[in-house]
Amino acid sequence: MSEIIPFPAERTAVLTGAASPRGIGRATADLLASQGWAVAVLDVDGDEAAAAAREIAERHGVPALGLRTDVTDEASIEAAIGRVEAELPAVVALVNCAGISSPTDVMDETKEGWERVFAVNMTGTFLVTQRVLRGMIERKLGRVVSISSISAQRGGGTYSKSAYSASKAAIIGFTRAVAREMGEHNITVNCIAPGAVDTDIMGGTLSDERKAAMAQDILVRRVGAVREIAALLAFLVGEDAGYITAATYDVNGGLQIS
Ligand code: NAD
Repeated sequence: MSEIIPFPAERTAVLTGAASPRGIGRATADLLASQGWAVAVLDVDGDEAAAAAREIAERHGVPALGLRTDVTDEASIEAAIGRVEAELPAVVALVNCAGISSPTDVMDETKEGWERVFAVNMTGTFLVTQRVLRGMIERKLGRVVSISSISAQRGGGTYSKSAYSASKAAIIGFTRAVAREMGEHNITVNCIAPGAVDTDIMGGTLSDERKAAMAQDILVRRVGAVREIAALLAFLVGEDAGYITAATYDVNGGLQIS
C-alpha cells in the first residue's frame, strides 16, 4: 500500500500555547485557518485565547474555539479537549507550542524552578498529546508536531539555560518514541527545533540591538520570523506529510548545523 489517505474536508487543528499575539502558535493557528482548518487555541491565558479564536474566525470564516487551558493540569486538558471534540470537526492535527523559558544558571536553579519548566514544556506536551491521540487512534488519522529548540542541541546560547535545554531535548526523545507506537495507526509524530525567533519568550520583545547581536552568529544574519516556523508546522500537519515521522527539523538560519 502506498496511497496517501485523504484528510476530511472539515478538520480541526488543536494548538497549545497559541494565544500570545506575537507567538509561533498564534501565527500557525492563523495560517492553518487560512488553509481551511478549524482551530482550537488552548492557552493558560484564557482572554488572549478567546481573542485569538474570535479574530481567526472572523478573518478566515472557519470555526474556532479559544479556551483557557493549563497544559500541566489534566482536568484542564480534559475539559478543553472534551469541548473541542464536542463542538468542532474531527481533530486531525495537534501542535504543541506551549512553553516557558528559563534563563537561570545551573548553580542557581532550584528544584521548583526546574520542575516548573519540565511541567509546562515536557509533561504538558505528554499530557495533551496522550489525550488528543485517543481520538486520532480511533479515527486512524493524525499529525502531531511539538516544538523542541536549538537550545536542546547547543545547550542554550540564545537565552535559556539548563532546565529549558533539558526539557526541549526530552521532547525529541518523546517524539521519536511516540512516533514508533503511532505509525501503525496512521499517525505521524514530529518536532521542530527553531533557532532564535522574534517573539516575546526570551524575556520580552527583542530590541533591535539584541537582534543584531544574535544575528552575528547566524548564517543568514537575522533572527527568524514566526511565519517561517508556522509554514513548516503547517506542512508537517498537512496531507502531504504522511511519510514524515519521528523527524526533528532545524529551522535556525544556520546557527546550528546538525
Ligand atoms: P510565546 O511566549 O509567545 O508563546 C508561548 C505560549 O505558551 C504563550 O501564549 C503562553 O501563554 C503559553 N503557555 C505558557 N504556559 C502555559 C501553560 N501552562 N499552559 C498553556 N499554555 C501555556 O513564545 P513562542 O516563542 O511563540 O514559543 C512557542 C514555542 O516555541 C515554545 O515551546 C518555545 O519554547 C518554542 N521555541 C521558541 C523559540 C523562539 O526563539 N521564540 C525558539 C525555540 C523554541
